[in-house]
Amino acid sequence: MEDILKYVRENIKRLIPYSTARDDCKIKMDVYLDANENPYNNGVNRYPSPFQEELKERIAILKKTGSENIFLGNGSDEAIDLIYRIFCEPNKSSALIISPSYGMYSVAAEINAVEIIKYRLEENFGLDARKMLSLVREDTKVIFICSPNNPSGNLLSQKEIEYVIDNFDGIVVVDEAYIDFAGSSSFSRLVNEKRNLVVLQTLSKLYAMAGLRVGIAIANRDIVKIMNNVKYPYNISCINQQTALSLLKEPLKIREQCEAIIEERGYLEKMLQPLSIVKKVYKSDANFLLVKFADKDIAFKTLGNGGVIVRDRSSLEMCDNSLRITVGTPKENDRLLGILYALDNKEFHAREKGGTDSGRSNGRRAIVSRETNETSIQIALDLDRFYTPFISTGLNFFDHMLEQIAYHANIGLNIVAVGDLKRDDHHTIEDVAITLAQAFDRALGARKGIERYGFSLPMDEAEATVLIDLGGRIDFKWEVEFKGNMIGDVNAQMFNHFFKSFSQNLKCNLHIKADGENDHHIIEGVFKAFARAMKCAVREDRQNAGIPSSKGKL
Ligand SMILES: *Cc1c(COP(=O)(O)O)cnc(C)c1O
Repeated sequence: MEDILKYVRENIKRLIPYSTARDDCKIKMDVYLDANENPYNNGVNRYPSPFQEELKERIAILKKTGSENIFLGNGSDEAIDLIYRIFCEPNKSSALIISPSYGMYSVAAEINAVEIIKYRLEENFGLDARKMLSLVREDTKVIFICSPNNPSGNLLSQKEIEYVIDNFDGIVVVDEAYIDFAGSSSFSRLVNEKRNLVVLQTLSKLYAMAGLRVGIAIANRDIVKIMNNVKYPYNISCINQQTALSLLKEPLKIREQCEAIIEERGYLEKMLQPLSIVKKVYKSDANFLLVKFADKDIAFKTLGNGGVIVRDRSSLEMCDNSLRITVGTPKENDRLLGILYALDNKEFHAREKGGTDSGRSNGRRAIVSRETNETSIQIALDLDRFYTPFISTGLNFFDHMLEQIAYHANIGLNIVAVGDLKRDDHHTIEDVAITLAQAFDRALGARKGIERYGFSLPMDEAEATVLIDLGGRIDFKWEVEFKGNMIGDVNAQMFNHFFKSFSQNLKCNLHIKADGENDHHIIEGVFKAFARAMKCAVREDRQNAGIPSSKGKL
């Protein structure tokens, strides 16, 4: 804590935060006579959870971080304001920001009487860490970096950002409001190692909850604690917490929308480039494009007359004649393109179908959600298309094993599982197995035209053999012995359970045998062999499109 406190304002260090009676009670209460609320239930008569534990737990799984590393604010804007209030002295401190960038860094600084120093980005909006740091003064307490940057859209170099974090004696905020569109890893993975780092994210952009106002700061637990002390006690209303929670129960739909938006971004970029009224379309890693026009006023006005509003960013440094265009639905984007093509005297053919408003459809794919009292799980599976897996169950080693399935079966697989791991991991592992089996079952449909059998022979890593028959009968054999009780953060005996539940719920024969010296290698061999066997079994059989059984029935 000491290393952080040296950055904190004296009055904040001394602050005794507001506390509620409910903070202190360890056992479950059910009669609330502590807060002068109206006792008659109408859904909102009680104060909301001040530290939003349940919502944080879910966000932690999605962001692959600890819930103790999360601060939630009334939008990221609350977090930005708090950072000034905690670390900067009014009329004394300064903050260093990149330019051009998000306007709130300056506005919030001005409100808090903090002087702003601007570092102008390099050509093509790149970051030069050493040049930026050369502007740091004695009184500079905070640095703001935005990546992908708004309004330029580009991801900044991770190496340069890391250099700033490592070489600044103060707080570095990396605003990642658009990180989900960037296909790049978040700096949040470093918050425990780099003590002066605060990462901002938000539910406002990809997560489609701008109306709710839920911003996320990810940092080490000491910074999070100070932010919690300074925020308003009930900064996120119970309606907003509940709505966010329920919308986050289907996170994988959001990932599909993300893909659709990224695809549309590419389409817009390609379609805008040939226009003579367009001077430049900047490369974007976000859900918007910065576009330099020959005359932005005409473009802006013509779009406006057509009912399309975009953001004029031409007053910012390096952004003359530039408009920022958010990627919309295919239909909305066509409307924009229609207007700009007409202005350019070019013919525009709107797509008849080409992309849906909600991502891909059809094919051997499934999204399955499963909610029980113990766990909340969603799995997306695509048997015919590999994509980089996103797997988060709160158990690192288990995540790593599930990733093997995606890579070695060469399938698309995303898994998000929120369970009560503090009690035990049993439910999470078993329920993932059940849900994964349901996903395979649904993606396979009537199991027509598949190879049906799969096997995998011993591989070098460990002696693992797996046999699968998707013929509809359940026979499970497990000949695997582990030396220890735990493998990574997972109870070793749970793996037997995992495959057994899978076999029962998919209705398949599954025989697994493995041998070796090292538990980690053994189980990794099992998952890889399982994936390879599955890959054979679900493969489409070119010679036989029917039911793969002489009985004509599975
Ligand atoms: C949109 C945006 C945010 C998010 O603000 P909220 O208050 O969470 O809606 C944060 N930073 C940048 C750079 C943004 O563009």
